[in-house]
Amino acid sequence: MGADHPDDLEPGRLLFAKECRFTAGAMTLEALPPPGLPEVAFAGRSNVGKSSLVNALTGRKTLAKVSATPGRTQQINFFDLGGRLVLVDLPGYGYSKAGKAKAALWTRTAQLFLKGRPTLRRVLLLVDARHGPNAHDRAAMDRFDEAAVNFQVVLTKADKAAPGPLRRLAVSLAKELKGHLAAHPEILVTSAAEGTGIPALRAALAALAD
Ligand code: GDP
Repeated sequence: MGADHPDDLEPGRLLFAKECRFTAGAMTLEALPPPGLPEVAFAGRSNVGKSSLVNALTGRKTLAKVSATPGRTQQINFFDLGGRLVLVDLPGYGYSKAGKAKAALWTRTAQLFLKGRPTLRRVLLLVDARHGPNAHDRAAMDRFDEAAVNFQVVLTKADKAAPGPLRRLAVSLAKELKGHLAAHPEILVTSAAEGTGIPALRAALAALAD
């Protein structure tokens, strides 16, 4: 992407300088807002750092509530970014405090959303930089392939990963992604805690905005 160059980062900076506001939260397909602006969804296992990443991107500390309890984000949340892009916060998978039945319901809603959303430009699949993808993440990748939903892996909590293992993970993951038709080849490495990779991610999202 060449996003290390300041000129390449500028569209992302401008987009994320705009107002970002919560517009809708949906537990069921019926409750989804009608499709309008281009959308980018955030997916990942509970506790991967999704809320922290959305907050770091938007520069707002309380936008996506950072959950002390894994699986507390129970609905699909929509945030309008400057009338140009909608950020869609999907429920985290892999764990639910509210029980298996409810977790399954959310997962189903999320899957149906992924399949049927004409305005969805990309899913960012968040993966912990220390651990790499787990079985749930790999199942999600398969579902994105099936639904032909473009997805991009974003590594989170990079500040907690040692440089050597992180480099090796990026290499092996890039290889793995070649086996996925719907995968965007570039992996983004981020740390919400330290701000690493945030400008590059903003720039990647600006390229998908209206
Ligand atoms: P979510 O469940 O995916 O929304 O995850 P959260 O954003 O609530 O984060 C889960 C935990 O990971 C919290 O304790 C965060 O403080 C921590 N966390 C999130 N992002 C980072 C990061 O970039 N670096 C570090 N060191 N910790 C992080």
